[in-house]
Amino acid sequence: MMNLPFRIGHGYDLHRLTEERKLILGGVELPNDKGLLGHSDADCLIHAIADSILGALALPDIGHYFPDTNPENKNLESKLILLKANQLCKDAGYSINNIDTTIIAEKPKIGPHLEMIRSSLAEILEIESHQIGIKATTNEKLGPVGREEAISCYSVCLLQKQM
Ligand code: ZN
Repeated sequence: MMNLPFRIGHGYDLHRLTEERKLILGGVELPNDKGLLGHSDADCLIHAIADSILGALALPDIGHYFPDTNPENKNLESKLILLKANQLCKDAGYSINNIDTTIIAEKPKIGPHLEMIRSSLAEILEIESHQIGIKATTNEKLGPVGREEAISCYSVCLLQKQM
């Protein structure tokens, strides 16, 4: 099974927004009046990317490797989750070809921070910025994301077998 030349993966995550939390997306702290609530630092972009990598490998999701029942994972820096997913990818003999993501948030505007988020992710994953796509959109004020109660993220990734 682990000899497939390519493997594609999909990840999705959503976290609730709350006051008195920092907003961290892609390992970068963004200026905002609310941040994401979660057991870890609640970086939903990193969580979606990590799940897309694990999904491509047909491995269990990040909750399996970092259960929220483990007190050691409280306020965990999500960078560590992504490092773990990347290590599992390498262990299986694959490397990341490219990743494409969408952030859905009413606020803040992601555009001005996009390059910083891309370089942060590229550094963690040891790939080039051009291998990571980041798109941002709003939810047109509809639903919990539209009411600024949550931020959600999607990710797809393509892994290729190492020669
Ligand atoms: Zn999450």
